Amino acid sequence: MSVKEETGRGLSFVKRVYPARALGLGLGALAVGAALLPQQHSLFFWVLWAANGFIWPHLAYFKALRSQTPFQTERKHLLFDSTSGGFWVAAMGFNPLASSMIIMMLWMNNIAAGGVRLFLKGVAGSVAGLALGLLVFGWQLNLVSDQRIVFACLPMLIAYPVAIGSITYRLAIQLHKQKELLKQLSRVDGLTGLYNRHYWETRVSDLMAMVRRSTQPLSLILLDVDHFKSINDTHGHLAGDQVLQQIARLLRLNLRESELLGRYGGEEFALVLPNTDKDAAYATAERLRRLVQLAHFDTDKGVAALTCTISLGVASYHGFQSYSDWFRAADKALYAAKEEGRNKTVLSGGGLYRVGIATA
Ligand code: GH3
Ligand code: MG
Ligand code: MG
Repeated sequence: MSVKEETGRGLSFVKRVYPARALGLGLGALAVGAALLPQQHSLFFWVLWAANGFIWPHLAYFKALRSQTPFQTERKHLLFDSTSGGFWVAAMGFNPLASSMIIMMLWMNNIAAGGVRLFLKGVAGSVAGLALGLLVFGWQLNLVSDQRIVFACLPMLIAYPVAIGSITYRLAIQLHKQKELLKQLSRVDGLTGLYNRHYWETRVSDLMAMVRRSTQPLSLILLDVDHFKSINDTHGHLAGDQVLQQIARLLRLNLRESELLGRYGGEEFALVLPNTDKDAAYATAERLRRLVQLAHFDTDKGVAALTCTISLGVASYHGFQSYSDWFRAADKALYAAKEEGRNKTVLSGGGLYRVGIATA
């Protein structure tokens, strides 16, 4: 993963955890404050309490946003939260309700953000914070959770799980979208946006299974750009790429949704036409051949628009035992079209070929 991607991922992580973290620390501070209230503490102590609960989460957020490595910075902040949590547990004299509630929230943040490793580090942080708190405040126990503490804990008990639930839900939606995008990307060819060979073949095999036990016709057209190497050699590989993209767009725009077009390899395309017999497929192939012949392809090199032609081989599915036999027949027809001088369509049929006339 590049530094930029890493930073981007870290920033979205920081933004995702911020609302829950700010809410958790703020509401946690309320409960801690209620437990600390009966004790006599200095103004400095209360400033520390307020800063930790209400200012620190926002400061930490802006610090993490500006960091070169936001993900790591935010994880350090989460560890700091756990450590300060331990400190407040000692200050509260281990008040059971307030202590278990803030520790639950802090450790939950750690395990959600960094799995078991960050959780264990968080536990260690809390123990260290507790030790520091014991050094500062000495050993004290405050095991009674009076009504004030119970009420101060209620907002956190109600609001925090809702906040976490909402984050989890948004994450699940995001994950689903990413899964769909990945699925889509694994199906298409990056240059032309057409189906890639693997996915195209999967779809073809589904179509074959559908028509195998019926009399429904199915036809295959293989297309190859003529003398494409010389386009590359004359105008450069980039111009060649642009021509391929425009041929793909031209073909796709002139076909039906149900007609299965894929990029089979470099400058070769493959097309399966459902419910189409060999004569109709031949007519489609000729239509495509003429379209390409008449088209002018732009490149960003500033040269005049390029022209090129394609050769096509057509074979109907019925009569073949397997996909490879069928494909071989179309490939042989394509080869024959090249032999005949290119810019032609050849129809495979029991060893006989019908050759398209190379005129527009
Ligand atoms: P023919 O008429 O016999 O098909 O001649 P051709 O030059 O088209 O065929 P050949 O197989 O000799 O060359 C195909 C060329 O297509 C060679 C390869 O560099 C080019 N090619 C394959 N994929 C791409 C691509 O994605 N982009 C570009 N620009 N060129 C590609
Ligand atoms: Mg080729
Ligand atoms: Mg070629």
